[in-house]
Amino acid sequence: MDMPAPTHSSAITLPIDSPYIGRFAPSPSGPLHFGSLVTALASYFDAKAHQGQWLVRMEDLDPPREQPGAADTILRSLEGHGLKWDGDVIYQSQRHGVYQSCLDDLIAHNWVYPCDCSRQDLNAMGGIYNGRCRCRSVDLSLPHSLRLRLYDIKDYPSSDEFRFHDLIQGSQAQNLRTQVGDQILKRRDGFYAYQLAVVVDDIAQGITHVIRGNDLLEVTARQLFLFGLLGAPLPTYGHVPLAVQANGQKLSKQNHARAIETKDASRNLWRGLEFLGQNPPADLAGASTSEILDWGLHYWRRDKINGQSHVYSDS
Ligand code: GLU
Repeated sequence: MDMPAPTHSSAITLPIDSPYIGRFAPSPSGPLHFGSLVTALASYFDAKAHQGQWLVRMEDLDPPREQPGAADTILRSLEGHGLKWDGDVIYQSQRHGVYQSCLDDLIAHNWVYPCDCSRQDLNAMGGIYNGRCRCRSVDLSLPHSLRLRLYDIKDYPSSDEFRFHDLIQGSQAQNLRTQVGDQILKRRDGFYAYQLAVVVDDIAQGITHVIRGNDLLEVTARQLFLFGLLGAPLPTYGHVPLAVQANGQKLSKQNHARAIETKDASRNLWRGLEFLGQNPPADLAGASTSEILDWGLHYWRRDKINGQSHVYSDS
């Protein structure tokens, strides 16, 4: 790149200087369910087993999809399972200024353009945005989104295939041009896009390792692209298997997966470790949460995780 990279460190103070900084970044669209506990546990154990920091970031960026009180419920639930985060929780809803200033820098580089295409237009393009508004003039007084010029950016990337190694899913490759297209950084309803906020915040918090659900494997290449564009070091990623219901549907807040309860914390932790392939001994299930967490930390082996989605039964 021929221009100085924008910086977005803002005013976050990192807890302690640490070579490993991990995070759990839930969206408060509902209470913690078993699938999100699995992600929390994997990111927690992986960070702590590497003497790292484990941060929690509340991704409350999309009010229409949020549930009042869910952010607090999630935090209480983490505490109830003995999962203590380092430093203060940060809330994306309080960081709009940081996202806007990053966007302003990208605009100043001419890496962003306005787009007024509709969902129907996108469908007619086969679902991958074809760059139609790159060279059209758009009426800025009407609702429009802002898109990243995902390729054709001077000197970047040299190849269409974006490659990276995932700690759990192995080597990955994605063609940003044909499989992703120019992504939205700010939505036409005025909200900042998750793809922008997540990268800006991972940079600001100095995240070195992102351990999260496998549903986000697909968006990792475009996030890595953005890291590169912002001149930031690339984190390492590991995507953990999703918990699915017997009918194959992912456990998620959207399909009303049952909330996990703190009164069952020991059992939930034990089942989480089992789901993650760690083979906790049967008699550990009755132990206290801190004993189970200690066991998990001591015996944590990332390479024992079976990366494929598998069934979790709520009963
Ligand atoms: N907030 C996202 C979610 O709850 C996770 C983002 C991430 O871990 O990168 O699905």
